[in-house]
Amino acid sequence: MVNNWWKYIQFRLFPPTCILCHRPGAEGLDLCPDCRRGLPSPAAACARCAEPLTGTASALICGRCQRRPPAFDGAHTLYLYRPPVDRLILDLKHHRRLAQARLLGQLLAVAAADWPACDLLVPVPLHPRRQWRRGFNQSLEIARFAARGLKLPLDSSHCRRQRRTDTQADLSARARRANVRGAFRAEGDWAGLRVAIIDDVMTTGATADALARALKARGAAEVRVWVCARAGMHG
Ligand SMILES: [Zn+2]
Ligand SMILES: [Zn+2]
Repeated sequence: MVNNWWKYIQFRLFPPTCILCHRPGAEGLDLCPDCRRGLPSPAAACARCAEPLTGTASALICGRCQRRPPAFDGAHTLYLYRPPVDRLILDLKHHRRLAQARLLGQLLAVAAADWPACDLLVPVPLHPRRQWRRGFNQSLEIARFAARGLKLPLDSSHCRRQRRTDTQADLSARARRANVRGAFRAEGDWAGLRVAIIDDVMTTGATADALARALKARGAAEVRVWVCARAGMHG
């Protein structure tokens, strides 16, 4: 009850305002209905890695996943990594705009209600030195709000990035896999758990693959990847 009153007061004091156009938000989100409709959703995507499928592709699994299935069981994305979603993510990452993390986490929670169920969320860890330099982990900030919306636990302490990796941006798919191989370590017992890895952007899926491998090595029953934006390898 107190909680509801506090929410009501907050709502009256700070009504939701669209992050993109500053008009009133809707459904408790800092996003207006027009801007929400305009966000770039993938028309069709690979069920395994969420790579956007173009044209009249009839296969549900992309060629890359058929040739080399990733360690994770499935991937879901909210949006394509295109304007204005790229700007939301860059503002969060480089200017620490936590309102962006709240919006993306809330949108993930709404969308995930239709995705296969998971028991807990695991944000992709940054290497401690990178996190120290940046001051925060954007995936953890997004995951916090998603976990709250879904009423699911969040584990950000039993997975570590044990090796520093080069930035993935300029690497080919093969080089990305080599770059992150063995980069993560999971501790403790994950037996039987269905885990959702949370990340801001996914490009080849090499990072999620390496983390999923570490979780499965500790017994995780199922690992899925939930990301805010998918950048296609083919632009
Ligand atoms: Zn708007
Ligand atoms: Zn795929």
